[in-house]
Amino acid sequence: MINDVPYVIDCGYGTSKQLITAGVALNRVRYIFITHHHSDHNLDFGPLLYNAWITGQPTRVDAYGPTGLQRMTRDFFNYLKFDIDTRMVDEGRSDPNSLITPHEISKAGVVMTNDDVKVSASLVRHPPIKEAYAYRFDAKDRSVVISGDTAYAPELADFAKDADVLVHEVMYLPGIDALIKRLPNAKRLREHLLVAHTLPEDVGKIAAQANVKTLVLSHFVPGDDASITDENWSEGVRKHFKGRVVVGKDLMEI
Ligand SMILES: [Zn+2]
Ligand SMILES: [Zn+2]
Repeated sequence: MINDVPYVIDCGYGTSKQLITAGVALNRVRYIFITHHHSDHNLDFGPLLYNAWITGQPTRVDAYGPTGLQRMTRDFFNYLKFDIDTRMVDEGRSDPNSLITPHEISKAGVVMTNDDVKVSASLVRHPPIKEAYAYRFDAKDRSVVISGDTAYAPELADFAKDADVLVHEVMYLPGIDALIKRLPNAKRLREHLLVAHTLPEDVGKIAAQANVKTLVLSHFVPGDDASITDENWSEGVRKHFKGRVVVGKDLMEI
């Protein structure tokens, strides 16, 4: 939230419901930023726009993300063409296509600015996806950086330099090894995870080098193993980073 305006970064499954639970009415959504086009980051992009339209149309939504965002927006409204056409006639609603402006970003740099914030993007390392971004929000009172999904990317330390808050993804190796024992596509999946995500020790290095005040761990890989404790997630980080470490939870305020 900046100056009471929500900035939504990524739209995984359940985004609309979680925003409502967080006390953010959907028609207040004004800016959306997508880090990359994996489904755990964009699956509910369309539904969020749609739910906003259904619950009381916001004046305008600007969405930013990698190449493909415009087609995804158009295709989603096509997917619901019958309902849109019906409601426009039957309920007198305006065309939802006019509500949203999708902006595709194809390189690092400043993404947008307004009176409250400057938003910049930096490429991160998330193979095989080439267009995967971290975002930095420089507001008057605070700077916040979101890593998106990335393998260890030392250049992220420069991008996050002196930020108040760095939200970084994290992968716990013993958890991966436990996970792959349960899965038939284990070998392939393990290879993908290891080249695409960051171990706690490396997250700690980034946070220390960037000199951030607070590090928030988020996007836990694996995310469905309740036996992994907060201590497991953070102990490797603390070997390198001496600042405040927060193990992120749903609906947490930082
Ligand atoms: Zn991803
Ligand atoms: Zn992800």
